[in-house]
Amino acid sequence: MTRSRRTRTNLVHGGTRRSQYNEVSEAIFLTQGFVYDSAEDAEARFIKAGDDEFIYARYGNPTVRMFEERIALLEGAEDAFATASGMAAVNGALTSMLQAGDHLVSARALFGSCLYIVDDILTRFGVEVTLVDGTDLDQWRAAIRPDTKAVFFESMSNPTLEIIDIAAVSELAHAVGALVVVDNVFATPVYSRALDLGADVVIYSGTKHIDGQGRTLGGVILGSKEYIRKTVEPYMKHTGGSMSPFTAWVMLKGLETIDLRVRAQTQSAGAIAEALQNHPKLAGVVYPGHASHPQYDLVQSQMGAGGTMLAIELKGGQEESFRLLNALEIIIISNNLGDAKSIVTHPATTTHQRLTEEQRAELGISRGLIRLSVGIEDPQDLIDDLLQALEAV
Ligand SMILES: *Cc1c(COP(=O)(O)O)cnc(C)c1O
Repeated sequence: MTRSRRTRTNLVHGGTRRSQYNEVSEAIFLTQGFVYDSAEDAEARFIKAGDDEFIYARYGNPTVRMFEERIALLEGAEDAFATASGMAAVNGALTSMLQAGDHLVSARALFGSCLYIVDDILTRFGVEVTLVDGTDLDQWRAAIRPDTKAVFFESMSNPTLEIIDIAAVSELAHAVGALVVVDNVFATPVYSRALDLGADVVIYSGTKHIDGQGRTLGGVILGSKEYIRKTVEPYMKHTGGSMSPFTAWVMLKGLETIDLRVRAQTQSAGAIAEALQNHPKLAGVVYPGHASHPQYDLVQSQMGAGGTMLAIELKGGQEESFRLLNALEIIIISNNLGDAKSIVTHPATTTHQRLTEEQRAELGISRGLIRLSVGIEDPQDLIDDLLQALEAV
């Protein structure tokens, strides 16, 4: 019934479970455990819990279940498992499906912690990993083998905002029966068509656009019912990466407004990209929704919009970048993204500091590169702030 409703209706009502009090706003079931009517009832529930029966919050909780059902509706997924952070989701999605001897192909341009899981942890447990330049389909073609078990990539890379073609990589992976796992954080759940385009598993850090107001850490793994309940759930419930009911409540409320927020942020990002074009202090402006982006057509077919993130490159390297950051009056210096507040980050000295100079060069992360996450402030105030700060550079 809820499936036939449109997205914005589902984001407000989808997955709602009301208690005997018929509350309007979703309840926070802040409880680890649940009381059984009898010893027989306890035994029966441990054998097989029904959809509305819970055992222990690490396994599932009514507030968490509401969040899982609501985001599954948004993504068009059969099921979802909510996790304690985005990284718990990445780790859970990959580790639960892989074992020693398996082969994984992954894009190289990954969030630092994602690269750590792929390149340090999985390899330590005997998974063979091949890293490729995710935008180069020939590299995927060469790396994917008949025994490849899965492929993994971020659909939009951080911080250089390159797009990986979900449909094309999925076709190559599915030809050998490999599963396609997409970290879709930068694309946002609002512009995601990942499952339609061929992905088998989609992951979000809920910390970003889903919370959207910088309060809680959380994540989610989405996919088929079979994969979520038979592969992910046993791994997550026994290893402890489950989402807390309080976090689930914050993220449920975040989902109510995500469509409005992300579309407004995207519109502002487009206006900022336009306003900064050809600025004399800038070597370049990268915005996936601007016609100047080298993969503009792919962005349009894959996401339909450019998203909430921009990258700008200063001609004057780190010195000018720092001056720009320090001159901003509204936009804050931090490292979250997808927040209601606009945030600037200098990746080379913060989020990507751990990489060597060569690794950064390979990923296009120069000392003049600044990442901007556009918030919901008045876009003209953001443009004015950036222009006055560029003046000060
Ligand atoms: C932030 C982020 C993560 C990790 O999410 P946390 O909630 O911080 O654990 C994973 N992938 C991408 C692309 C991210 O931006």
